[in-house]
Formats: sequence, structure tokens, C-alpha cells
Amino acid sequence: MRIQAAVLRERAGAFKIEDVDLADPGPGEVLVEIAGTGFCHTDLLPRIDGFMAEPPLILGHEGAGVVTATGPGVTDVAVGSSVVLSFDHCGTCPACTDGHPAYCRSFWRRNLVGRADDDGGRAQDLAGGSIGARWFGQSSFASHTVAEARNVVPVPDDVPLELLGPLACGVLTGAGSVFRVLQVARDTSTAIYGAGAVGLSAVMAAASANAEYVIAIDRHRSRLDLALELGATHVVDSTGLSVGEIASQVKKISKGGTDTALDTTGAPAVVTAGVGALRPQGTLGLVSAVAGSIELPGDALATGKTVTGILEGDAVPHELIPELIELWRRGRLPFDRLIRTYPMSDINQAEADMASGDTIKAVLIPGAIA
Ligand SMILES: [Zn+2]
Ligand SMILES: [Zn+2]
Repeated sequence: MRIQAAVLRERAGAFKIEDVDLADPGPGEVLVEIAGTGFCHTDLLPRIDGFMAEPPLILGHEGAGVVTATGPGVTDVAVGSSVVLSFDHCGTCPACTDGHPAYCRSFWRRNLVGRADDDGGRAQDLAGGSIGARWFGQSSFASHTVAEARNVVPVPDDVPLELLGPLACGVLTGAGSVFRVLQVARDTSTAIYGAGAVGLSAVMAAASANAEYVIAIDRHRSRLDLALELGATHVVDSTGLSVGEIASQVKKISKGGTDTALDTTGAPAVVTAGVGALRPQGTLGLVSAVAGSIELPGDALATGKTVTGILEGDAVPHELIPELIELWRRGRLPFDRLIRTYPMSDINQAEADMASGDTIKAVLIPGAIA
């Protein structure tokens, strides 16, 4: 069918809205009409020279929409179902069968290459040129997409579908890290480094778990103010602070160090501060690729501290996304406050606004394509 999509033609180029021919869903696949799709910083990885996904590409991996057709053998979702599109996983490897699909043995190939081995004709421009349309198994910067039925999560019909896409990655990552990995609980303390979409989702999750101290650390005052509104008990403006000063402020607030911490910045110095501010046996999670090497003093981990990488909140999307929607209904996870919507044709403006920090989470609405 003929769809419209935001295509990245060159790594450094602008996104361009194009007409694209998309193949029908095959066995086990569904066609989804996109209602809205979040813009995540991971969507910008193909801008890096040498990155495994090569343009031309359709990006986008926080899609939400309605199933409009199903391929052979699809039984768990039907035409008309509202769904959120999550990351791709095989469903059969040891990680998948053990409830850790984010660590699927073929995660990188399935999600970060942007093409399937056999997708030669899956998406083509009007001149017949192949376009990668399998980014995170979905490539949802488009009016429609084909995804594996396994990777779409049915959601209720009485929620604002166009805003739900970020539950598939950004919100899932922040909240999943807090609930599933760090297991933030009542009366414990946690520090969230970086108050972007993932960090603020973690703040909301920790607040909903009734943690005693939820400390947000960032350099942008407006984000810290929002963190306080979303449930942070304390904030630290790290502007101009040294690693030691950040750590000592967090330690002071938490009366000796936090039980857990989450770094969403990927900045080595911030990670060093976060480890320093953990109490003995505390755990710090890393959700973004760290730019360079982390410097840890020789005795940094000596008191039983743990540093762990976390992909996609280590969540099972079919379990956590419905839980996040319930929390949202109860006012405990107002993730919609992070969102600013744009017509998909304004995708380049959305990218600029996220880079400048003006927008925390952009959601693109394809129906608004001019
Ligand atoms: Zn797997
Ligand atoms: Zn993402």
C-alpha cells in the first residue's frame, strides 16, 4: 500500500516526508495505522558515521495506533485493536523465554540495523529504491507500519492512543529500571541523574513507589522544577558543581547515600558522582551508552556497590505497559506532561527542540501530514 513516512536519506540530512510503498503484512505480522509516535534520542543513532543502520531509513520506535490488517497466523491481536508497538525480540532464545526480552540474543540485529535480512522489497520509494523499514521492528515515523504481532501490546480504547507511544521505550525504560531492576520501594532513597524523558519517568515511578527520598539531578532549572511537580522530593542543580560536590550534596540530602541511583545522562563524570553517592551495597543503573570510560576510584565499589547496565528497563512490555497505563489513570504517572505533539511534517523542528531542551518528549502525529 502507499503510505507516507519521514525518511532519513543521509546521516546528516533532514528528515523528508515521502510517499512510500509498503508490503502487506506477512505471516505473524500486523499492519498498524499510526496515531502517534514518540521521538527518542536513540532514533538519532543513525546520524553517527559508521553506525550499523544505514540510510535511507524510516526511524521511530515508540509507535501507537490501530491494527488495520493481519497476516496469516495472527491470533492474539485483531483488526481494530489499539496497540503500542514495542521493541522487537525473538521470543525463543534463553533471554526471551526467561522473561528478559530486552536482552534477546538477537536484539541488536532485530532493532538497530533498521532492515531485516529478507526485507528487500518491504518498503520502497516511488523510484523502486529500497528503504529500511524495520527499525526496532516497526519504523513508526510513518502513517502505517508493519510489525510482528509478538511486538504489539494491546491497550484499552478509552485512553489517548496518540500519546501512548513513549510507553514503549522512554517511559518503559525509566519506570522499568525503577520497578524491575532497582526495585525502589517505600522508605528507600534513590537519585535520578538527568531529568529528560527517561529520568523524569523514573522520578514518577519512584514517587509512585513511595520512596522516601527521590532526588533529581540536572543542569536545567526548568526540568528540576518539573521533577519537583512530578514527585521528586529534592533536586540538585549540578551547574558548575564538581563530581565530589554533586556526590556530597546527594549524600547529605539522603542522610548518608542513596540505596539506588539511575544514570540517564551517559556522562562519565555523572556516573562517577552517582557511584560515590551510593550507600554501601547500593546499586546504580546505567540506561544510556556512556560516552567514553567511567573513572571509578579504586575503592568505589569496595563496600558492595553494584553498577549495572539496563536495556529497556529490563521490562516485559506486555506486562509493564498495561501497568503504566493503570498508574497513569490513577494520576501516579502523568507521562503526558513530558509530551509536546507535532504534526509529523514538523519532524525536523521536533528534533531541534529536543536537542535544545525546549521539548522533553516529542510525539509526532502522522494524520497531521499536510
Ligand atoms: Zn530472544
Ligand atoms: Zn528509545
